Amino acid sequence: MRVSSLIPGIEISTEKEDRICYSYDASNTEAMLPLAVAWPKNADQIVKIVNFAASNNYSIVARGAGTGMTGASVPQSNTIVISFEKMRKLLDVDTKNMTVTVEPGIINGKLQKELEYLGFFYPPDPASLNNCTIGGNVATNAGGPRALKYGVTRDYVMGIEAVMPDGSLISTGGKTHKRAVGYDLKDLLIGSEGTLALASKIRLKILPLPEDMMTLMVFFNSLESSGTAISKIITSKIIPRTLELLDKSAIEAIENYRPIGLPTDVDAFLLIELDGYPATIKKEAERIVDICKSFGGEAIVAEDAMASERLWEARRSLSPALYHIKPTKINEDVVVPRDKVPIMLMELRRLSESSGIKIISFGHAGDGNLHVNIMVDRSNKEEFARGMELVTRIFEITLKLGGSLSGEHGIGLTKAPYLGMEIKQREIELMKGIKAVFDPRGLMNPGKIFG
Ligand SMILES: Cc1cc2nc3c(=O)[nH]c(=O)nc-3n(C[C@H](O)[C@H](O)[C@H](O)COP(=O)(O)OP(=O)(O)OC[C@H]3O[C@@H](n4cnc5c(N)ncnc54)[C@H](O)[C@@H]3O)c2cc1C
Repeated sequence: MRVSSLIPGIEISTEKEDRICYSYDASNTEAMLPLAVAWPKNADQIVKIVNFAASNNYSIVARGAGTGMTGASVPQSNTIVISFEKMRKLLDVDTKNMTVTVEPGIINGKLQKELEYLGFFYPPDPASLNNCTIGGNVATNAGGPRALKYGVTRDYVMGIEAVMPDGSLISTGGKTHKRAVGYDLKDLLIGSEGTLALASKIRLKILPLPEDMMTLMVFFNSLESSGTAISKIITSKIIPRTLELLDKSAIEAIENYRPIGLPTDVDAFLLIELDGYPATIKKEAERIVDICKSFGGEAIVAEDAMASERLWEARRSLSPALYHIKPTKINEDVVVPRDKVPIMLMELRRLSESSGIKIISFGHAGDGNLHVNIMVDRSNKEEFARGMELVTRIFEITLKLGGSLSGEHGIGLTKAPYLGMEIKQREIELMKGIKAVFDPRGLMNPGKIFG
């Protein structure tokens, strides 16, 4: 990395190789080179970079690890990227109040491990947890498999220190587990995709590590039955810690990429995890096995923690595995009410069959959040256009079922053209009004969310 002396005392580069490295994210969105990349080490340095950008009319894009699926950290023209790689510290663990304070660049998985040593637990676990940052998680309100039982990032953020577009430093939220004082500014920052302010410090709630855990694999010969079993498990008053679904093509993708011995002659696979006291887990597992059996599912308990981790590794490798099927995946993360999961799965299959385009579905089916991957080749213009038509169809079906366009990835660039399908004009105006109050000059991550 070469360092220019653009802002005294700040690590910043205008070299082309650095600008290329920070010009894209995991969404495959067309890259646009930033003017420069800066690596602040603390809030004061972020303030200096923001002031420099503002006085030169440059826009600012925050970047965690670039694992975002919507192009939210992809720069637009005239942009300085602020990368949080040099702000990765776990600043404080307050076990009495069960909170941690972190710098925004800390990797989610690293925080998880540090806390596990101490007997604590930070539930939000995006499948990208070994790479993504807490700052990115807060800015996208990230979820993950455990959201079913434990909720999403928003449920764990207690406070955010942030640098505003005018260079001022604000402190929102606090140390207490309850708070009712005025508008909750931290809640506005969560999920704002770096369009309002830059998080420089984050306080999170943590939980005690559950006593025990059990992983179940359930195989179904019918995708629809697996969806019905999911609804039945939840209505039977069992909330597993995770309830992930992989359709037949997703199982095949894993077995063709890094085989772990999953059967490829089944139609669907549920990966279910229970946690809590051993006696309760045992009872819940028996009940789940019975429910799945009644819908034709065959359940197997993972032998031990290693076997369970192997399954999760495979689940997490799914996203990269898909690139072995087709060079382009148009990735959506629609969410529907739980009881509509079977209908949604069948609609997706029908669309795939009628269009001749492979649609691979997997994801956090327990909370209705399905990762829908439309597999095409971008260089084949006709095929890509048909893939994009499917996106509109899928969104229409999702909304008709009472769902939402994104359960966790956010809007960014890729979904901005569809925002109006879900959010009404008056509500978009209110959102834009909030943006204008925080960032009247529109310097923070322009082009995102609203297009
Ligand atoms: C294989 C794979 C699996 C995934 N699985 C999941 C999943 O299970 N659940 C899920 O929710 N997501 C998932 N994602 C998407 C992605 O990992 C999340 O959106 C994640 O929160 C992005 O974090 P990041 O650090 O990579 O942020 P980036 O992609 O770098 O940025 C995301 C957004 O956050 C903003 N941002 C980053 N840091 C800050 C900051 N300090 N202040 C203000 N704004 C900031 C950026 O400007 C951008 O708008 C997955 C992605 C991949 C590649």
